[in-house]
Amino acid sequence: MPRNQTLLPFDDAVATTLGLARRLPAEAVPLLRAQGRVLRGDVKSRITIPPFDKSAMDGYAVRVADVAEATARRPAVLPVVEDLPAGRRTRRRLAAGTAARIMTGAPLPPGAEAVVMQEDTDRAGDQVRIARPVTAGQNCGRAGEDVRRGDVVVFDGTVLGPAELGMIAATGRDRVKVTRQPRVAVLSTGDEVTRPGGKLAAGKIFDANGYSLVGLARRVGAAARFLGIARDRPGALESKLARAADAGADVILLSGGVSVGDHDLVREQLTRHGFREVFWRVAMKPGKPSFLGRKGRRVVFGLPGNPVSVMVCFELLVRPYLQTLLGLPQVGLPRLTATLTEPIARLRGPRRKFLRGHLDLTSGTPEITPYRNQKSGVLRSMVDCNALIDVPGEATSLATAATVTVLPLEAPWPS
Ligand code: AMP
Ligand code: MG
Repeated sequence: MPRNQTLLPFDDAVATTLGLARRLPAEAVPLLRAQGRVLRGDVKSRITIPPFDKSAMDGYAVRVADVAEATARRPAVLPVVEDLPAGRRTRRRLAAGTAARIMTGAPLPPGAEAVVMQEDTDRAGDQVRIARPVTAGQNCGRAGEDVRRGDVVVFDGTVLGPAELGMIAATGRDRVKVTRQPRVAVLSTGDEVTRPGGKLAAGKIFDANGYSLVGLARRVGAAARFLGIARDRPGALESKLARAADAGADVILLSGGVSVGDHDLVREQLTRHGFREVFWRVAMKPGKPSFLGRKGRRVVFGLPGNPVSVMVCFELLVRPYLQTLLGLPQVGLPRLTATLTEPIARLRGPRRKFLRGHLDLTSGTPEITPYRNQKSGVLRSMVDCNALIDVPGEATSLATAATVTVLPLEAPWPS
């Protein structure tokens, strides 16, 4: 069989992966701990907001007719019959020819039609002089102008941020239903891989993948735990897989050992542990040896060991899976088009390619500069770059100013 026929097309790999994903159950959490969580079910307001007509200024509540002729030269002079701070409601009707002292946020007294701001008035004892007319509703907030009772204020599947938290609180709730966080267990493999923090022996490298995978999973909103480094030995995964199962992991992320090297034992061990192969080897670059296995509802991603491949495969395969577990309405990285600032030459092979680049959004049209070294071991490229360039398998080169599809790796604005 020709080699490329054994590779699953990239889009099929994504579709197959998402076909296994089911939204996780909901749980209730205190609103103050809900930032970044995904709302489960629409939040409807039980109340009208604001609940009453109110003053939007410190000043004087009046009837419009009483100040209709007022000017700086010939102010309207009204007796001040009431003092209305925020938080107190009066039932007393504002009589014609009178004014009520009123503070921002205080309910308008019945009969009042507008508020004259303090800056347009002059108080003298029990009287206030008003230097200009007002229109009905001026400097007032209307009951229900923000939210009406029964309105949906935040929709199902929204990632809760400060505005949503404030809005939900304003409806009177202090708890909210969100999707349970996916539990992700991360482990690294490789005889050469050493835990950072100590000395590096000859022939060894420090573990990068464990850390970037935990970070990526958390950034998507999962609860991620690092289970350590497994040696390239049959049975080395055994206890770690058992720990992942005990912890109720929804997803296990493994890096390294899924290729065709003599010590790439991950697939074999997973199979022995009861994971069924869903796919192995995808027509993508980087990421060719990517493996997906499942055991009941638990899935395991066997990601290639190269630190760039790990991150790219997470973003393209694992991210949309986790986002589907979370119940997000849109999954995967955002896509936009950009123009290339430099040519890309020598694109070889039929696989779909994901090149690293630096996306610049400051110049009107998005521009992307490909990173100088596209080898999948060059982790610094992931620090220096902020986007992937999605290049079709058949492309052999791309010219300067070519339009390309770009996948931003993080929001280009603070989020
Ligand atoms: P493998 O897929 O196990 O053949 O690994 C491919 C390359 O990635 C090798 O150069 C490994 O040394 C390297 N590698 C594997 N695991 C890690 C890791 N956790 N951190 C950094 N590099 C790794
Ligand atoms: Mg290895």
